[in-house]
Formats: sequence, structure tokens, C-alpha cells
Amino acid sequence: MSQSQAWFSRAEKCFPGGVNSPVRAFGSVGGTPIVFERGEGKHLWDVDGKKYVDFCASWGPLILGYSHPEVVNAVQQQAAKALTFGAPCKEEVLLAEKVKSWIPGIEKLRFVSSGTEATMSALRVARAFTKRDRVIKFVGCYHGHADAFLIAAGSGLATFQTSSSQGVPMDAVKHTITCEYNDIDFLKQLPDNVTQEIAAVIIEPLACNMGLVKPTPEFMQFLRSWTKQIGALFIFDEVMTGFRLAKGGAAEHFKTQPDLWTFGKIIGGGLPAAAFGGREEIMNVLSPLGGCYQAGTLSGNPMAMAAGLATLNAMEKQNTFSACESLGKHLDMVVQEILSSHISSGKLSYVRQASFFCFFFGRSSLPQNFKEVQQSNMQTFSKVYHHLLNAGIYLGPSGYEVGFISNAHEKSDCENLVQEIAKALK
Ligand SMILES: *Cc1c(COP(=O)(O)O)cnc(C)c1O
Repeated sequence: MSQSQAWFSRAEKCFPGGVNSPVRAFGSVGGTPIVFERGEGKHLWDVDGKKYVDFCASWGPLILGYSHPEVVNAVQQQAAKALTFGAPCKEEVLLAEKVKSWIPGIEKLRFVSSGTEATMSALRVARAFTKRDRVIKFVGCYHGHADAFLIAAGSGLATFQTSSSQGVPMDAVKHTITCEYNDIDFLKQLPDNVTQEIAAVIIEPLACNMGLVKPTPEFMQFLRSWTKQIGALFIFDEVMTGFRLAKGGAAEHFKTQPDLWTFGKIIGGGLPAAAFGGREEIMNVLSPLGGCYQAGTLSGNPMAMAAGLATLNAMEKQNTFSACESLGKHLDMVVQEILSSHISSGKLSYVRQASFFCFFFGRSSLPQNFKEVQQSNMQTFSKVYHHLLNAGIYLGPSGYEVGFISNAHEKSDCENLVQEIAKALK
């Protein structure tokens, strides 16, 4: 038995399924999760001492790679001062000012500790501001595990919605309307008595939790003008795309300003931090100014703020966006070179945006929504996944996940990844 297996069997006696978050389980690819010990730059080492090139980035935060010296230093410096105050601190102001300077539409924000908390709070703010209850979410978009968002398909707003998790009462999702990604027609046919009850439309502006699905330009434009027209707030859930898609995030990339944003992952530089923010008049509904309550013992935690700030500062210094884009272009090129026969024979499709990439096996065209994503071949993904693990390449253990390029990768890593996928497909 490997050390990894030994630790995981101990973990199974401690945690349901052996994990503290279900995406870490190997349920969809089979086998036992790897137990890790250390990371540095693009590399990860497991408890058996096996080395991997990492394309999972802890599901997004590690755009600089593991243990970036400036981030580690910032955290060490802060640890010597205080781990938490439960009172205002300089670090939260510095990070907030940095976020506002990168994303000019954000006038006010609040820090929280997880993406789940950010989206949950943004929805509460939207409901308080509009004095409406309904929310529209898109199938396949993940907005954390708050009750209102744990709902999958089911087109009929008139028919009963069922939640996608046990333990979520029907009452908690009865205000949530789901719509397929990129489906304008569904929204257009919603009757007035429904649209006038909609507080918010929330979207992953680039969908990164069902593989990688891009919004069509018409869809994005429609959502912006339609939400304005019906008096609902437009929320960009940028927990994944924030500080990764572009410096100004999805607003810059799609030239579309939402009313509210949510962030997580990179904003904490690897420590638990997240945020939500937007126009001042909206955010001012929050307590203590307004009557919408939201709070957190560790919100704006100085350790997490220091890690987030050091990450954004280092990204500026290292030109992370252009570095990742050129690695991405290189990946595109090698994919075309080495995998073209699989692509042209309809066995594979590939998509990349900024430092996100995704391979869909058994599909000749790129999916536009979750239904189409589900038509890809997850068995092939599992086989490829285990081949890559053996070859020392680590990705998130599910075909519904994207891969992440980091600023620590090199062109040769892109080449190895593609070569190993080609070998696996043989
Ligand atoms: C990861 C993620 C969340 C949830 O964030 P947690 O910190 O895991 O609670 C919400 N929305 C999106 C788009 C995400 O990718």
C-alpha cells in the first residue's frame, strides 16, 4: 500500500468519503485520491515523494504556482503580527483598493471567507435592493453550495423545481429559476408577472464549472440589456474568472458591466478569502448602513488579505496575464500539431480562454450548454486522467473541470501535457 493510500484510508475514518470537499474524491475517475505534502512553483509532491506538474492550481487560486516567495513572505510577516483581529486592519483596505483599481466598476465591496459566502451574500443584497425574491441561474454554473443555488435543470418555472441536493427544502429553491446557458429564447418568453419579481440574474460570465463554456456575444449583450429592462441586478460570479480572465476580469473581457460581482480563489492567494461588491448605492443596503445583514468573524482576515495582496502585486510585477496568454497560445499550437487527427476525426474538442483550458473527449464541436457538455465521453476522460497521473501530471479529478495554466509553467509543460494526452488516446 502506498503512503497516499494509507493516509487516505485514515482520512476515510475521519471524513465522509475521506474528503473535506467532494470534488477531491476520485468518484468520477476511479482510484484513490492522491494525498499531497508539498508544492513549489508548478510542482507538487505527494506523500510518497512522487512529483507532479500541477494543472489544478488548488482549483484556481494558485495563478503564481505553489509557495510563491513573495506570498509566503507576506504571510510570514503577517503571522508574526497577528492572525486575526476581528476589527478593522490596514491589510483589508490595501487589498480592497487594489481590487478597485483593477476593476473600476466596483465602488464598494465586502470581504468574506469563501466563494459560497460571497454569492449567498450578493444574492441577499440584490434581494434587499430590488425588494424582489426570484433569481435566475444557468444550468451547469456553480455558485457555491448555498441553498438557493443548489438547483440543476428543470426548465418549467411554472412546474415544481427540485433541488440538486438532499437537505435543501423546496421552499429554499422555489424562487430560483434555471435556464440553459446561452439560451436567450427561454428568457424572452418569461411572462411579465415573473420578470417583475426577479431580483437578480447570476452567471459565471465564462462558465468554468462545466468544463469550459463561453457565452455567445449576443447572450452576454442580451443579459445586460434585459436585466436593466426588467429591473433586476446582473451578477457576475467571478470566483473563478476574477484576476485570471483579464486584469479587469469578465467586465473588461466582455466589455459588459454587471451590477454586482463575486470573487474568491485568487483573491485570497491560497488562503480563505472571497468578496462581493459593486455599485455603492447597491452595497449600501448592507448593515450597518442599511437593513441587510451580513457578517463574519474572520472576514477581511489579515493573513488572507496579505496573501491576496502579495499575489496581485506579484502578478503585476511578473506580467502574469501576458505570460499566461503566451503559454496558452503555445498550448493551442501544440494541440493543433499533435492532436489534430483526433480533432478532425471528431473524437476531441479543445477550448482555451486566458489561462483556462479544457478538453472534451468524444465530441466534435464545443458545447454551448450543460446538456452538450454531458454528451462528452467521461470514460475516455478517466482513462486519460490516470495515464496523466502516472506520467506525473495532475489535473482536477473530473471531466467537468477546467485545467489551469499558471505563471510558473513553461512551454515544455504544455508540450508534455499534450504529448501524454496523445499517448493516452493511442
Ligand atoms: C469555486 C466557486 C465558487 C465557490 O467558492 P468556494 O470558495 O468553494 O465556496 C462559487 N462560484 C464559482 C464560479 C466558483 O468557481
